[in-house]
Amino acid sequence: MSTYGIDLGTTYSCIARLDSNGNPEVIRNNEDDSNMVASVVFFENENNVVVGQAAKENIETDGDRVVQFVKREIGKHDNRTYEFDGKTYTPVEISALILTRLKNLVEAQGNTIEDVVITVPAYFGLEERSATKQAGELAGLHVLSLINEPTAAALSYCARQFQEDRTILVYDLGGGTFDVTLVKMSMTRNEQGKDVQKINVLATGGDDRLGGKDWDDKLFEYILNACCEENGLTPQDIEAETRQDIRSKVEEVKRKLSKKQSAKVRIDVSGSRTEITVKRTDFENMTADKVAQTMNFVESTLQKVPGVEVDTVLLVGGSTYMPMIQNAVEARFPGKVQQHDPDQAVAKGAAIYASMLVVEEGAITEGDTSASGETSSDTTAHAEQLTAKFAVEDQTPRSFGPGVMDTKGSKHKYVLENFIKIGEKMPAVFSKTYYPLEDNQERVRLRAFENMSTEDTLIPSVDEDGNPQATDPANAVKLLGELVVNLPPETARNTPIKVTFKVDASGVHVEAVNTKTNEVFETFLRTESDIDVDNSAVHQLRISAD
Ligand code: ADP
Ligand code: MG
Repeated sequence: MSTYGIDLGTTYSCIARLDSNGNPEVIRNNEDDSNMVASVVFFENENNVVVGQAAKENIETDGDRVVQFVKREIGKHDNRTYEFDGKTYTPVEISALILTRLKNLVEAQGNTIEDVVITVPAYFGLEERSATKQAGELAGLHVLSLINEPTAAALSYCARQFQEDRTILVYDLGGGTFDVTLVKMSMTRNEQGKDVQKINVLATGGDDRLGGKDWDDKLFEYILNACCEENGLTPQDIEAETRQDIRSKVEEVKRKLSKKQSAKVRIDVSGSRTEITVKRTDFENMTADKVAQTMNFVESTLQKVPGVEVDTVLLVGGSTYMPMIQNAVEARFPGKVQQHDPDQAVAKGAAIYASMLVVEEGAITEGDTSASGETSSDTTAHAEQLTAKFAVEDQTPRSFGPGVMDTKGSKHKYVLENFIKIGEKMPAVFSKTYYPLEDNQERVRLRAFENMSTEDTLIPSVDEDGNPQATDPANAVKLLGELVVNLPPETARNTPIKVTFKVDASGVHVEAVNTKTNEVFETFLRTESDIDVDNSAVHQLRISAD
């Protein structure tokens, strides 16, 4: 089966599939002797772009030709770009390069890759999601769906041990981000009368600037200071090459300290070899405040769901290999902590989900045989077993609705009516009927917004001309796009126009129907940073009929 799950991470990415026994397995990156591909891109010259560990090794020496942490930029409103050798790259294009590298791992084994599921953080809004999907398509992949990272981790955990209703706290400490998610697993009966396991996201929290890199930075400082002490120097005396040397060794020292009580590192300081020993206890002392920060986010996330009882804590992300993390979480949740391949769980869960979707869609081509000699029907049978067990129910990551005119009262007010609220079960659908503002109105410009509010209506902040602003920091209101509906000539102002919003894992679909002519206007609203915001009232819809 050519179906794969991809964890497109901030610092490391990973690709997995189901093996012939239906067990998820990660595709090895032989070149880097790893299960991961570092999410780092080095633009060596106009003919050569390097992705992975080799790119990472250029961070210190050619930092201005290296792109890392691109996941923090994808789908953001300010649309950052990168320029190398006269070519401009968007975050979507950089992400596509990382995805292409993952795709190549599969192809290097003689297998084909078509359908994929890509994971995204649970807090990603629509623009980040559609940009991630676009990156997949640009890499020549067919993106079946996106799935939230903690949901994928929970799925991979459940595939291991099938259990009754439980609340799982996913503690995901990666390289550059920390995500806490409360996930509810529950048994339910589906339409065919089969018991299925449902996975719901209850709450999310965390910090997208807190991760393994902060532990690396502390270690870097410590080793740098130790080099100074050994050689009677001050940090200002340390040359750039020495700093590079330390920088490229800290991650390895950190990994060693996850296994051993102390680690040695040799650094060249002004031509003399200096050996530094780092004790685990010292490393733990210098980073204790970071651990405490993660635990504060755990508490604040728990507070979002009053009375919640956590049954299991899943440790996810490469940084949870550090014993200090395991100990801190265990101290808070004694006997409840589980850790299974923390750096692969997300990709494996995505692989499980991808095969579930293919079974549902019946999209498997007969006779597709992979290089491992396994036929698609073998894996199909396993995937069918999985579908029998799971139903993934994700929730809307934001609230969504159109901007319309409230004509009640003496002054017209432009309001945002939330059709679908944050946390609703996906796919979510909602319709409402509006009316043109004027008789003979030629067109309607229907704007779609996303926001973080749970109110029914919001007043988007307005500029000096009374035009609503695309963003409103308090409720994170974002303009997603707009739909232009041309009305037939002589349309009366009481003509009902039915507006429907549908939100699923791949985005928001907006439809407007002129119920008089039955003409349907439909659009999939994409990231569009530059929509010409024409607010002339004559183009609006109003809430109530006369
Ligand atoms: P992402 O943030 O991209 O999702 P991962 O979950 O793979 O990334 O986590 C990457 C982070 O985990 C890096 O900071 C890496 O140094 C760290 N890491 C990986 N293995 C270990 C280990 N054995 N001990 C300590 N840190 C580790
Ligand atoms: Mg991750």
